[in-house]
Amino acid sequence: MNIKVLGAHNCESQNTKYTCLLIDNILTIDAGGLSSNLSFLAQQKLEAILLTHQHYDHIKDIPAIAMNLYLSGATINIYSTSPTYDTLKTHLLDGKLYPNFLERPQENPTIKVTIIEPGKNIQIEDYSILAVPVTHSAPAVGYQVTSPDGKTIFYTGDTGPGLTECWEYVSPQLLIIEVTASNSYEEFAKESGHLTPSLLKHELATFQKIKGYLPQVVLVHMSPNLEEEIKTEIEAVARALNTTITLGYEGMQLRL
Ligand SMILES: [Zn+2]
Ligand SMILES: [Zn+2]
Repeated sequence: MNIKVLGAHNCESQNTKYTCLLIDNILTIDAGGLSSNLSFLAQQKLEAILLTHQHYDHIKDIPAIAMNLYLSGATINIYSTSPTYDTLKTHLLDGKLYPNFLERPQENPTIKVTIIEPGKNIQIEDYSILAVPVTHSAPAVGYQVTSPDGKTIFYTGDTGPGLTECWEYVSPQLLIIEVTASNSYEEFAKESGHLTPSLLKHELATFQKIKGYLPQVVLVHMSPNLEEEIKTEIEAVARALNTTITLGYEGMQLRL
């Protein structure tokens, strides 16, 4: 399985893109930095977009990619939970901001939506996909993706502390998890459903206790202005847990 980090941050600029992962050039999770990072041809090769939740930084490029595919006569499958779809339908894809690609073109709409239920495995192409609820300020899920050759990643999307139950359902070799802020923002992180290095440490320790191992860990969704602080604090966490934790970046390639 080849994973490319298209976006690794929670703020967008010339050098930072909203969180977005590309798997084997055909699956993407979240659509923050999607169309802005892929050629038209690469966009046409996509089979599916999995959405973790409704927040703007995770859905931003859906209208853009839909317009590109619409103009080339292609379609895209979007997988999301029911609350996320409801918000998409009534806000981003309401036909007022931009054409309603859920219904256009009438004979074969550009966007095909499949509602997924957390806890139920589904197949997309030859990949096994499991959505698992996480704790955030909007209804949110993480995705475990298992490739046809048995390689497994879990991407949390945005999450706060309290992943104990989530860990019961997943067994990834690679964990892509958010750390939005540095340790001094712990109260903000808890209130808004995000993680800091020290909150992550607790979650990883719980993972290790339940599963008996720690996966490779890559961080995304960092606040660019706190990134240096996060990096220093994460090094201490990695030392304490005797493991390696890497900060993701735009263009990072991971291979399993
Ligand atoms: Zn969010
Ligand atoms: Zn976010």
